[in-house]
Amino acid sequence: MRDFMTFDELQLTDSLLKAVKAEGYTTPTPIQAKAIPHALAGKDVLGVAQTGTGKTAAFALPILQRLSAKAPAGGARPVRCLVLTPTRELASQVSDSFVTYGKNLPLRHAVVFGGVGQNPQVQALRQGVDILVATPGRLLDLIDQGFVTLRALEVFVLDEADRMLDMGFIHDVRRVIKVLPPVRQTLFFSATLPPDIMDLARNILKEPVRVEVTPASSTADTVSQQVYFVEREEKRALLTHLLQDAKAIPRALVFTRTKHGANRVAKQLTAAGVRADAIHGNKSQNARERALDEFRAGTLRVLVATDIAARGIDIDGLSHVFNYDLPNVPEQYVHRIGRTGRAGASGQAVSFCDSEERAYLRDIERTIRRSVPVVADAAFRSHLPPPLPGDVEESRPPMNRGGRGQSRGGGGGGGGQRRGGGQRRGGGGGGGQSRQASGGGNGQAPRGGGQGRSQQARPAVASPAAAGPSSPPPRRTMSKWG
Ligand code: AMP
Repeated sequence: MRDFMTFDELQLTDSLLKAVKAEGYTTPTPIQAKAIPHALAGKDVLGVAQTGTGKTAAFALPILQRLSAKAPAGGARPVRCLVLTPTRELASQVSDSFVTYGKNLPLRHAVVFGGVGQNPQVQALRQGVDILVATPGRLLDLIDQGFVTLRALEVFVLDEADRMLDMGFIHDVRRVIKVLPPVRQTLFFSATLPPDIMDLARNILKEPVRVEVTPASSTADTVSQQVYFVEREEKRALLTHLLQDAKAIPRALVFTRTKHGANRVAKQLTAAGVRADAIHGNKSQNARERALDEFRAGTLRVLVATDIAARGIDIDGLSHVFNYDLPNVPEQYVHRIGRTGRAGASGQAVSFCDSEERAYLRDIERTIRRSVPVVADAAFRSHLPPPLPGDVEESRPPMNRGGRGQSRGGGGGGGGQRRGGGQRRGGGGGGGQSRQASGGGNGQAPRGGGQGRSQQARPAVASPAAAGPSSPPPRRTMSKWG
């Protein structure tokens, strides 16, 4: 199957083509080009693709086409398509995609998930829906109460199957599968295929076509990455410091390992005058949605999240992702930084790595097969030297933090912690301080890898929007997927 084709070549109906074009899509993404023809032909599909690849449209478009080919039954419309997702956020997003792509079609849909009252969901179901998007727990509740029957189901989608397993939903998923009619089309999507996911896929798919894009080990070239070696107790001050430049960092998603950590960071940022909020599994659905809406609208500048809460979050124009804590699973890093640099737009991923996280960074670099450029900031530095000689670049001058930088050996010159050649760059110990790194962005910010660790001095955290003529193309171009 060719990767490059136009939407017109995909044999989609005019109504769908119109909806897709209205979204500004010009070319199908690779997963769409590969999966849509098979899905339209009625085949089962095993899709290996992560969020951000356009996988939602890869299953939503053929489903809408299939269901609209047959007039919906009159009266109580039975559910003809079920999409199971692991999180409420993803369920909402998938449901929004069905609304967007299906806006010219007479199909009805509903979304059901836990954490909110079930009555509005029951009302929607009573009116009859063709497409139901659901998280497993709430769906089972509604099935048990007799509000949902899946006897007339034609298409079943299992989205983010690996995440479903991670979150402990596999038992619920199996229960749902048991009540599905055996004759159906199944579309199975997962970012990774560990053995238990393969077992599940084998059980529920019939002669599937396997389509695969961008393994979870690769990061988009549109995301520029950098890491600060910093001690744990300094992370908070470093984050606040970097976020002071609101122009360079209009909107940032900050990842922490724990829910407690997310709360603490959000609180500390708020206290420092940065509009921030946290989302994680302990927050009510309403609180999460409110935070997400505010973040999307731009009234909230920083969202602090745990991996699970942030999974599937798709925010246009997210300029920066911060890894406040480095994940111990390298693929998690790939997923995290995939929240920015979406759809061909540029983005920046900034990681904080303390002495205990050095091994995590090594694993990440091995997985993504590139080294993450190191930024040295004299005021924030690790007790440990950076791992490679001569690989530290100077950056923004230490901020005026009441002389804290001064108190750290060498007058904040930054040379003391570096090995050998690091001194050369920036003209010795004091060089970093005199260089202004305002985030003005002149296109020098590294685009992903290739440049390794030996770079010229450049803004510590550059604004993608401020990038120069050599900056990557704007959103909606296909460079990321091409
Ligand atoms: P997904 O992987 O489904 O979460 O999609 C990631 C993002 O890509 C969403 O913002 C979609 O709106 C966008 N997208 C999906 N398909 C295309 C396409 N063919 N061209 C441009 N953007 C797309």
